[in-house]
Amino acid sequence: MITVYLQSPGQIGLREAPEPTPGPGQALLRVRAAGVCGSDIGAFRGANPLVKYPRVLGHELACEVVSVPGDPEQNPRGFRPGDAVAVDPYLFCGRCYPCSIGRTNCCEALRVLGVHVDGGMAEYFAHPADMLIRLPPGLDWVRAALAEPLAIALHGLRRASLKAGERIAISGAGPIGLLAAMASIRAGAVPIMIDPLESRLQAAQALGVRHALRPGPGLAGEIAAITGGRMAEAVMEASGAAQAVAASLEIASHAGRVVLTGWPKAAITLDTAIITRKELTVSGARTSGASELGEALSIIAGGEADVSALLTRVVPAADLPGAIREISDHPERFMKVVATF
Ligand SMILES: [Zn+2]
Ligand SMILES: [Zn+2]
Repeated sequence: MITVYLQSPGQIGLREAPEPTPGPGQALLRVRAAGVCGSDIGAFRGANPLVKYPRVLGHELACEVVSVPGDPEQNPRGFRPGDAVAVDPYLFCGRCYPCSIGRTNCCEALRVLGVHVDGGMAEYFAHPADMLIRLPPGLDWVRAALAEPLAIALHGLRRASLKAGERIAISGAGPIGLLAAMASIRAGAVPIMIDPLESRLQAAQALGVRHALRPGPGLAGEIAAITGGRMAEAVMEASGAAQAVAASLEIASHAGRVVLTGWPKAAITLDTAIITRKELTVSGARTSGASELGEALSIIAGGEADVSALLTRVVPAADLPGAIREISDHPERFMKVVATF
C-alpha cells in the first residue's frame, strides 16, 4: 500500500509499505479521506518537538471498516465491514489522573496519530475499534474528514463555557478559529474574529462573522465599541502568537473566560494582574473528546455549519507530498486541504 511518509523534516514522499496487521481490539480501516492539519505542516517543517521521525502523517480521517473484532467488548459499537467511520485520533493510557476523571484528551501519556505514532495518510490503517465513530448517513468522506478540526473548535468553546448571546473574541482566523466562529454562531453567540491577514478576515466575513478586526493598539478600543464597553465575555486564542496571547487578557470582560488553544513557540510574559483584577478564568484547551467528534459529525451532516466553505483544495492522495510542501511554502494561500484515497 501507499503511505505519505515523512523521513525527516522537509523530506516527504510516497512510500510502499506492507498493509498493517490489526492488533488486539483494533479494526483494519481503508482510508477514504485525510485532512491536512497545521500540525502536519509543523511536523514537515520540524517545528514540533513532539514528532518522532520517520513518521506517517495524518489524523483527520474518514475511513471504511475492512475488518473489526467480533468480541462486543472490543467492538462495543457493533461495527461491521463496510461501515463508514471517523477516527478519534487521540490514544490515551486510561490509567493516569486526567484519564481517571474522564478527561482523556489531556492524558499524561497522550499519543497523537501522525505525531507520536504513525498516522492515517495511508491506504490502510489499524486503530482501536472503540475509538471509531459511525458517520451519519449521507455524509461524504471529504466533509467527514473535517469533523476532527471542528471537534477541536467545539472543545475550545466548551472550555470557554460559551453561552448564547455572549461575544467571543477569537484570535487567529485559521481553520480552528474559523470553525470556532461557525460553531459559536450556531450556539447563538457573536464571534469577533481577529487576524492580521486581510484575506483571512474576508474568509471569516464570508462565513457570516460580522466583526473582523486586525490586531494592534486599537484592538481593545474596537472591542469595547462592539460590546458597549463590557469587552468579550469569552476569548479563544487560536494563533499561538505572543502578542495575541497577551492581548487576550486585555480584550476579555471582567469575570470573562480566556481559553488558550494555540501553541506558542516560546515562553510568553503576561501581566497576570489583569487576571486578578478582572477575575478571569484562564484555561488551556487541548485536542478534543470523543463526544465532541460525534457532535461535530452531526453538525456537519445536519448542515448546521458549512465546513466545506473552508476547503481550498481536494487532492488525490498521490499529490499529498507536493501539497504539503506547497502549504509549507505559502501557508497564506491555503485554508484546508483534504486528500482522497
Ligand atoms: Zn488536526
Ligand atoms: Zn492517561
